[in-house]
Amino acid sequence: MAETAADTPMGHGYEFDLVVIGGGSGGLACSKEAAKLGAKVACLDFVTPSPQGNVWGLGGTCVNVGCIPKKLMHNAGILGESFSDAREFGWKVNNEGHDWAKMVEQIQNYIGSLNWGYRVALRDNNVEYINAKGAFEDAHTIVCTKKNGKTRTITADKVVIAVGGRPKYLGVEGDKECCITSDDVFSLPKAPGKTLCVGASYISLETAGLLSALGYEVSVLVRSVFLRGFDSEMAEKIVGHMESHGVRMIRSSVPTKFEKDGDKTKVTIKNSDFGNEIVEEYDTVVIAVGRDPCTGDLGLEKAGVVPHKSGKFEAKDEQTNVPNIYAVGDVLEQRQELTPVAIQAGQLLARRLYAGATASMDYDLVPTTVFTPLEYGCVGMSEELAAETYGADNTEAYISFFKPLEWQLNHEEHNGVPVRGDNSCYLKLITNTADSERVVGLHYLGPNAGEVVQGYAVAMKCGATKAQFDTTVGIHPTVSEEFTILSVTKRSGVDAQKKGC
Ligand code: FAD
Ligand code: NDP
Repeated sequence: MAETAADTPMGHGYEFDLVVIGGGSGGLACSKEAAKLGAKVACLDFVTPSPQGNVWGLGGTCVNVGCIPKKLMHNAGILGESFSDAREFGWKVNNEGHDWAKMVEQIQNYIGSLNWGYRVALRDNNVEYINAKGAFEDAHTIVCTKKNGKTRTITADKVVIAVGGRPKYLGVEGDKECCITSDDVFSLPKAPGKTLCVGASYISLETAGLLSALGYEVSVLVRSVFLRGFDSEMAEKIVGHMESHGVRMIRSSVPTKFEKDGDKTKVTIKNSDFGNEIVEEYDTVVIAVGRDPCTGDLGLEKAGVVPHKSGKFEAKDEQTNVPNIYAVGDVLEQRQELTPVAIQAGQLLARRLYAGATASMDYDLVPTTVFTPLEYGCVGMSEELAAETYGADNTEAYISFFKPLEWQLNHEEHNGVPVRGDNSCYLKLITNTADSERVVGLHYLGPNAGEVVQGYAVAMKCGATKAQFDTTVGIHPTVSEEFTILSVTKRSGVDAQKKGC
C-alpha cells in the first residue's frame, strides 16, 4: 500500500477514492458521476486487440464496435430500402449501388470524434484517465500495465469493475484464423461480399439484416432457436421478414471447420438433426455466438472476489462479495447487456457511494430494440413468460397487424415479394387480467421501434393498465397509435389483419 490512512486529505490513506477499471458505457458514467460528487477518481481503459488485430479508442464496446456503428450501418440499409418508397412519391432516384469503404470511413471518423470527446469529458470532470490494463494486487491495489509494458501501481478506497465483454469464438478448427466478429465487421476496409453469420441472437440477426439491406448475399447459421428469451412469435415474424427479403436461414446447424481457400473461407456445416455435413464457400464469416466477460485476467483471486462460473458477478446493488469492490454493466450475471443499463447502474452506484443516495438500479421493465431491417422493440414479458408467471387463463394478448401509412404508396416487388407487404408489421400487448389488466408486455415489429417503445416503457413503469392505454388519445396518423386502439385478442381467433384503410 502506497500510503497510510492518516496521510491523505481523504482520510482513508489511498491515492484515489475510486478507481474504475474499464472506460466503456458503465465505467465512464460511474467515473464522471463520482468525480462530479467530489470523489478523486481514476478510470483505466485498455483495449486488447481482436484476433484480427483491431483496436479502438476510449468509450468501450457501444461506441466503437457496438451500438453506434451498428445503428449507423443499419440506417445505411434503411436508407437503401427507402429508395423504393421515394420513387413512388415522385423522386427520380436510382439506387446505383453502395460504397462500403465510404460508409466505413465516415462512421470511423465519427467514432474518432466520440473517442476524443470522452477523453475531454474525463479531463473536464477531473477524472484521471489511465490508458492501461488493470489487475488487482489486493482489494485496494491495482497494477496498471501500459501498452509498452510499463507499470504503475495505484491504490483506491473503492474499486468498480466495468470491463465489459468480448466476442466468444467457437473453439472449432480455423475459427480465429478465418472468421471475424463484431469487433471487426464495422471497420472492415473492404466490402464483406457473400457473408455467413453464425448465431441466432441480437448480434447475428442485426449484422445479417444490415448486410442484406446493403445488398450482400447473407446466410445465418442457427443452432436452435432465434432470439432466445424474446417472445417467440415476434422472433418468428422477424425471421419471416428477413427470409422474404433474401436472408437465407440455415437451421439446426453448427459449423465444424473453417478453412482458407485464397480469399474465400470454406465452412463445413453439420446439420444436428440428420448429422450430414455440407461445405459452403463465403467471402466473410461473422461469428456472433455470445460474449465472454473480460474478468479472467483481473487477478480477482488476489482481491478475494469470487465470480460466478460464467466469469460474471452476482452482485446485490452492484456490490461483489468484497465490500469495497463493485461491478457494473455487462459483467453482471443475469442482467441485461445494454448500454443504458450500464450507464444508469454506474451513475446510481456513484450517487449511493458519494452523495448518500439510496436509489438502487431497477433492472425490471428495461425496454430494448433489435435493429433488424424490420425493427423489433419490446418491454416487459414475452407471451410465454406472462403465461408461465400469471397462468395462461390470467393472461390476455391483444394483437394487430398493420402497414405504416408511409409505405402504402409503394407497390414495388423484389424477387416477387412486395418490398412493403400488407400487414407486414405486427404488435402485441399482453395484460394480466387478474390485476386490473395491467400491461405486462408490449411488443412492436415495425419501423422506428425504439422510438415507439421508449415512451410506452415509461407508462409501464407507472403501472399502466389496458384501460389507460384505451383512454389515451392516439396521435394520428402514426404507427404508435395502434397501441391505443387494440381490441382483438389472440384468444378470440378474430382476424387482426387490416383490410383497406
Ligand atoms: P464496455 O462498453 O464493453 O466497456 C468495457 C471497457 O473496459 C472496454 O473499453 C474494455 O476494452 C475495457 N477493459 C477490459 N478489461 C480491462 C482491464 N483489465 N483494464 C482496463 N480496461 C479494460 N446495447 C444497447 O443498449 N443498444 C444497442 O443497440 C447495442 N448494440 C450492440 C451491438 C453490438 C455489436 C454489441 C457487441 C453490443 C451492443 N450493445 C448494445 C451492448 C452494449 O455495447 C454493452 O451492453 C455496453 O457497451 C456495456 O458497457 P460496459 O461498460 O459494461 O462495457
Ligand atoms: P447472445 O448470448 O444473446 O446469443 C448467442 C447466440 O449464439 C445464440 O443464438 C446461441 O444459440 C448462439 N450460439 C452460442 N454458441 C453457439 C455455438 N457453439 N454454435 C452455434 N451457435 C451458438 O449473444 P449476442 O452475441 O447476440 O449478444 C450479446 C449481448 O449483446 C445481447 O445479450 C445483448 O444484450 C447485447 N446486444 C444488444 C443489442 C441491442 O440492444 N440492439 C444488439 C447487439 C447486442 P442458442 O440459442 O442455441 O444458445
